Amino acid sequence: MAKLKRPTLIAGGGIAGLAAALCLARRGIESIVFERDPAFAELGAGIQISPNASRVLHHLGLQEALSACAVRPEGVEFRSWRRARLVSHSALGDATLAAYGFPYYHIHRGDLLRVLAEAAERCGGIALRTRAEVKGFAAAADSVRVAVSTASGETAHSGVALLGADGIHSTVRERLFGARAPAFTGHVAWRALVPAERLPAELVRPVATVWWGPRRHFVRYCVRGRSLVNCVCVVEKSGWTGESWTERGELAELRADFAGWHPNVQRLIEAMDADALYKWALFDRPPLPRWGAGRVALLGDACHPMLPFMAQGAATAIEDGAVLAACLANADDVAAALERYASLRRQRTAKIQALARRNARIFHLSGPAAWARDLAAKRGGERTMSAVYGYDAFAAAAN
Ligand code: FAD
Repeated sequence: MAKLKRPTLIAGGGIAGLAAALCLARRGIESIVFERDPAFAELGAGIQISPNASRVLHHLGLQEALSACAVRPEGVEFRSWRRARLVSHSALGDATLAAYGFPYYHIHRGDLLRVLAEAAERCGGIALRTRAEVKGFAAAADSVRVAVSTASGETAHSGVALLGADGIHSTVRERLFGARAPAFTGHVAWRALVPAERLPAELVRPVATVWWGPRRHFVRYCVRGRSLVNCVCVVEKSGWTGESWTERGELAELRADFAGWHPNVQRLIEAMDADALYKWALFDRPPLPRWGAGRVALLGDACHPMLPFMAQGAATAIEDGAVLAACLANADDVAAALERYASLRRQRTAKIQALARRNARIFHLSGPAAWARDLAAKRGGERTMSAVYGYDAFAAAAN
C-alpha cells in the first residue's frame, strides 16, 4: 500500500490523465482528475493501441471492456498509391499475441476514453472533475496547491503532487518552463469515419492499409466491431495551422489532395460524410530536457508530443502512467520518485519521437528513393517495431 496521505492532482482527463489515475489507483494512490471540457470524451476518429500499451490496459482490468468495442487487426499492409501494389505486409492478430503476450487494437477514440472514464468512475480512489481547468499551481516543500477554474468560480486544491497530462499546449508545462509554441511540422491530417455498409467488403477487412505516395499517405482501418472504417490522410501542406478535433475540412480539397490515387482510396473519400470530415495540423516539439520540477511532473503529449507516423503518442502516454505509478508507490521522497520516473522515460520517448519524424520523411518519398524504401520494407522493418512493442513498463520501473 502506498504511503501518500493526500491525493495526487492530475491536470487533464485525456488518455494520459485517465490512464495515470487508474495506474495510481492500482497502487493504492488516490487522485483527483481535473478536465476542462464538460465530459471525458474524444471525437470522431480511431486510434491504434499497440501491445506495449495494451499490456498496461489489461493490467488495469480493461481487457473485457476493450474486447467489446475494439477490433483486433489481422495485419497491416503497405501499398503503392496509384496501383495499390503490395509493398509489404506484417502480421498482427495472433502473431502479436504470440510475440508480445498482448494484443494490437484498433479502437474508436471515444470508446477508449469511455472505457477509461467508466473504469475511473467505478474506482473508489479517483475523483473526476469536469469543467475544471487548471490555471496554475504553487509548490511547497510537502505539497502542491493548484488553482482550478470551474463554473462556480476559482477553487484551490492541495495534493501530494501535480501531474500535467494536459496535452500539447500544456498549461502545467508552460508554468514550469515558460511559454513556447509547438512547431507546425508541415503536415495536415484529414480524419473521417466511414460507415462500413457504404464500402465493398475489401475495404472492411480487419487489416490496416497504408497507401504510400509522394508527399502524402492514406491509412484505413476498422473500428467499433468493424461497423466503421477510420481514415487518416496525411498531406504535406503549408500555410494552415488549425488544430482541433472539430475543425471541418472541405471534401473538395481532400479529393484534390488524392486525385489520381487508387480507386479504393477514391471509394473511401466518396463514402465520407462531407459534414463529418475533420482537418488537423500536426505539431510536435523537440524532446524536453526536463519533465518537471519538485512535486510537479508532465506526461503524455504535455512532455513528448509526436507525429502520428509511429502510432505511439497515446501508447507512450499510457506507458508513462504505469511507470509513474510504480515510482510513486511507497515513495518517501515524492520529488525523487518523479525525477526517477522522468529518467526512466525520457530516452525511450525521445527515440520514438525521432522515429516518428523519420517516418514522416520515409512515408512520403517519391522516385528512386521511394523504390529503395519499398525494397527495404519488403526485407522487413520489424526489428524497430519489436523494440517499441516489446517494452514492458512494469519491468522498466522495477529495475
Ligand atoms: P490530450 O489528448 O491532448 O488530452 C489532454 C486533455 O487535457 C484534454 O482532455 C484537454 O481538454 C485537457 N486539458 C488541457 N488543458 C487543461 C487544463 N489546463 N486543465 C484541465 N484540463 C486540461 N497515438 C497512438 O498511440 N496511436 C495512434 O494510432 C495515434 N494516431 C494519431 C493520429 C493523429 C492524426 C494524431 C494527431 C495523433 C495520433 N496519436 C496516436 C497521438 C495521440 O492522439 C496523442 O498522443 C494522445 O491523444 C495524447 O493524449 P494526452 O492525454 O497526453 O493529451
